[in-house]
Amino acid sequence: MMDPSTTLAEQAVLPKLPPLDYRIPRWAPEDLESRSCPFCGSQSRVVLRRPDDLPVAYCNVCSVWYVASIPAREKLEHFYQDYYDAFRPARLDARTAKFMMRAAGVNARTDLRIIRLAAIVGSLRAKRVVDVGCGLGGFLLSMQATSAEVFGVEISKEAREFARRYLGLLVYEDLSQCLVQTGPVDVIVLNDVVEHLDAPAELLVTAVKALRPGGVLAIWTPNGGAAGTDLVCAREWVGFRVDLEHLQYLSTRTMLLLAGVLGLTVEHLETTGFPGLAGIDQKPRAPSWLRTRLQEARAAVSWTPLGSAARVLRRTFTDMSRSDTPERTMGTYHLFAILKTAAGTTRTL
Ligand SMILES: [Zn+2]
Repeated sequence: MMDPSTTLAEQAVLPKLPPLDYRIPRWAPEDLESRSCPFCGSQSRVVLRRPDDLPVAYCNVCSVWYVASIPAREKLEHFYQDYYDAFRPARLDARTAKFMMRAAGVNARTDLRIIRLAAIVGSLRAKRVVDVGCGLGGFLLSMQATSAEVFGVEISKEAREFARRYLGLLVYEDLSQCLVQTGPVDVIVLNDVVEHLDAPAELLVTAVKALRPGGVLAIWTPNGGAAGTDLVCAREWVGFRVDLEHLQYLSTRTMLLLAGVLGLTVEHLETTGFPGLAGIDQKPRAPSWLRTRLQEARAAVSWTPLGSAARVLRRTFTDMSRSDTPERTMGTYHLFAILKTAAGTTRTL
């Protein structure tokens, strides 16, 4: 059995998962800091290495997998500048904004997270919603299309300025700054955020304190529960081989435990969907003008009655047992939780 304070030499003999994602960060050993469980602070032994060489441990207390040696915060912030570049559209201009606004109306009716939130909260009309890590503001626009009052938080200056200037959204640099403007809010959304943070508990506590009585916290994150609880199962899980900027992998049990500690009730909990693996084994292509236009044209057709009819026909004649044609609610890659403030006070982690 390996001691939690394993040396780099000892870690080197741990099983290393084969690469799958083209983008493998190369961290220098001097940039890394060892850490214990990001939720309870206990130390667990590391059991495997991801393709980026970073060691992964499993906390039995929190049922969470976590990277046990992570880059310092300033190194992570630098890394995310390039990370964002790989996802940004060709041009952040009025045309992109117009396309996003058209897409928002459709997404407001079809986005699983919005459908679930509306079911829990009731009407989203006039509800005060904050999306932390809102990127260019696509999800905010969809929420706005439900008549919610929306606010964003985004660390990328370029994304923030685009959302403000072209989409007319109120987007702030950090959550505390945002909350000064909004006061207590009805909904805080963390889409693909908690897995990226070196100290996720800090953000959760801040978010919960900002909720009105009866307000909800929605968390969408990779489902670490799909990795099981031991090495035999974990080394088979695709989540440790893609998106190597992820630093922790929460499970349904982690959500239940967090809800208890934060004084929240679990209103909704589901695992769903698949990782986006198409083309990830190749070097990402820079977004070109032509490719962006083609994607827009394809999306525009899918929003027409013709597109709807094509989807109905495909569902009717597709054998759902085939693994290459999964329904979006099949799969277990994502974890989606909606946690609600109970009457009375919330606690800190
Ligand atoms: Zn823990």
